[in-house]
Amino acid sequence: MSDCIHCDIHDLLDEHLDKEGADLSAITAKVTEVLADLVLMANPAERMPLLAEVVANLGGFVLEKAANDGEDPDTRRSRH
Ligand SMILES: [Zn+2]
Repeated sequence: MSDCIHCDIHDLLDEHLDKEGADLSAITAKVTEVLADLVLMANPAERMPLLAEVVANLGGFVLEKAANDGEDPDTRRSRH
């Protein structure tokens, strides 16, 4: 365990991602389900704004990390 939830999640996922024939679509679906569970933990009135924030963050992270591709040899393992 580290001080960063992002890094801890990556460590947890490594076991699944490193398997022969890892199904990236299935793995991302499970991670997405966790996001849905987290959104549903919010009060009903706060769920839609939180969902919008999740989607905005997702797009932002993908664009930011894609722009850094080539600079970081293993972007998904970038540490905080
Ligand atoms: Zn991290």
